[in-house]
Amino acid sequence: MSTLPKGEKIYHGIAVSAGVCRGKVLVLHRARHIIARREIAPDSVPSEVKRFEHTLVRTRTQIKEVQRRVSENMSDAEGDIFEAHLLMLEDRVVIDEVIRMIREQKVNADFAYHTVADRYIAAMEQVEDDYLRERAADMKDLTGRVLDNLLEVKDAFDLKHLSEPCILVAHDLSPSTTAQLNKQFVLGFATDIGGKTSHTAIMARSLDIPAVVGLHNASDELETGDYALVDGYNGTVVINPTDKTLFEYGQLEKNKASLDEKLREILWLPSVTLDGKAIHLSANIEDQFDVESVLQHGAEGVGLFRTEFLFINRESLPGEEDQYQVYRQVAAALKPQQVIIRTLDLGGDKFASTLQLAKEVNPFLGWRAIRFCLAQPEMFRAQLRAILRASAEGNIKMMYPMISGLDEWNRATTLLEQCKAELRTEKIPFDENLAVGAMIEIPSAALIAEALARRVKFFSIGSNDLIQYTLAADRTNEKVSHLYEPTHPAILRLIKMTVDAAHNHGLWTGVCGEIGGDPVLVPLLIGLGVDELSCAPAGIPEVKYMIRRIKFDEAKALAEFALQCESPWDIYTRCLELARASAPSLFENKTE
Ligand code: PEP
Ligand code: MG
Repeated sequence: MSTLPKGEKIYHGIAVSAGVCRGKVLVLHRARHIIARREIAPDSVPSEVKRFEHTLVRTRTQIKEVQRRVSENMSDAEGDIFEAHLLMLEDRVVIDEVIRMIREQKVNADFAYHTVADRYIAAMEQVEDDYLRERAADMKDLTGRVLDNLLEVKDAFDLKHLSEPCILVAHDLSPSTTAQLNKQFVLGFATDIGGKTSHTAIMARSLDIPAVVGLHNASDELETGDYALVDGYNGTVVINPTDKTLFEYGQLEKNKASLDEKLREILWLPSVTLDGKAIHLSANIEDQFDVESVLQHGAEGVGLFRTEFLFINRESLPGEEDQYQVYRQVAAALKPQQVIIRTLDLGGDKFASTLQLAKEVNPFLGWRAIRFCLAQPEMFRAQLRAILRASAEGNIKMMYPMISGLDEWNRATTLLEQCKAELRTEKIPFDENLAVGAMIEIPSAALIAEALARRVKFFSIGSNDLIQYTLAADRTNEKVSHLYEPTHPAILRLIKMTVDAAHNHGLWTGVCGEIGGDPVLVPLLIGLGVDELSCAPAGIPEVKYMIRRIKFDEAKALAEFALQCESPWDIYTRCLELARASAPSLFENKTE
């Protein structure tokens, strides 16, 4: 039952994926870690003990079911992992201790189980024995599952089996959970924390569902079953919307329908400015299933294939053959359009649980992307070989993420050359002229763009990271989102430096970070000389619409103004003025 008053309540956050949806809320992972001690009346003790025992039975059934599924899809050995969970679940010593605590201290079952399990976990973690330490991780996993059941929290496993439409509300959603969402049932989502360019937000745009993040404590206040409206244009979530609000949103839906009509008209037209400057407009994808969307939205191929999503949410890592099949399939489906495959960018906020990597204090500054790959040459070589083999299709390009200096470029090139030599010996075909580029997403790379330009075939600016690393503002942290300014003069200078270095060497530069899909910033990027833009497939029509309504000369004048202006806000305001004046229809649903 909802504890909210019946009236309308509006939560304000950060809009990360456009659109409006309404429906029933489903709250996820709620307060799993905040387990309050509650006194219970003496006559409630037997029912509390029963509740605990029922939970154990329910948990056992769930684990058995997961075990069955895993054994079906993987080997029995993988299914056996769950045997350890079952043994711990049925450990009589733990069960008796929990029941004793409920009876003697007259406390709630979740508090008792949490207290007892935590004691065992702490003891196991202290032992100097790898085996026992691993069992501590199993015990944590199991404890989470039991507490989910005691607290009636839905988990990621259930998410795959939703049977009715809902709006997900959570403290946070990891990119791996977001990757599992079924668009048929998840109408949109809202989270307490997060930033505009976190990978969770990027996934929302890729799924093309409305999303709002940075809502502070919404997941604590909202209840499963509440009725909500998510406004992904303006970053608000309205609970119990009044008839007046619903009427206003009806208008918004009408605006959207008329804009969609305009966008459909230009879907298959070229991406060219009013005065004839062509901009290559491509799409960002996460897997082979996104190809359909690339084709439907009128993109010119793929500017960024984020291959790490092939490694996430799997029980074992994909090998060379698995990857080859995916890359080849994508390239074949989009031929003759180009497909730029970005090598693995795990780390930061994207983790493959199978790898069981130790937690880092600063994951975004740590073992991520090319750094991680160069330290795992076997895994990296499997990917390089898979990409090379798929390049025989003739339309593949490749790029490395997070290049910070020449050494990384040189080491990756050496590995690539070794892989090519092997394939030649094995008489396996590949594209001898495969173009390899560097992503520019660390300030040091932009600052040495001249040196890099003598080695690479193209640049692709990863502005999501370039902004976070230049301004020292975590892209996933809503508390510093006000510092995360794409129009900061420092960012514009780094982009300009990169573009100039590329052009001096006859190369092209793309932008595949989220600013490349923001119609407000598109004229500025074009004015700075960017040759290619790549964004979520669903964002392509709006970007094309904007490109077709501006003049390259206006864009250049805007960039000239921006490069001599000191204020990020003044630059943004000027961008907004030009964008609104050129394509007013794109802004009708935005209130600010
Ligand atoms: C970027 O950093 O802008 C980028 C495109 O890469 P990712 O978002 O995957 O880090
Ligand atoms: Mg990046």
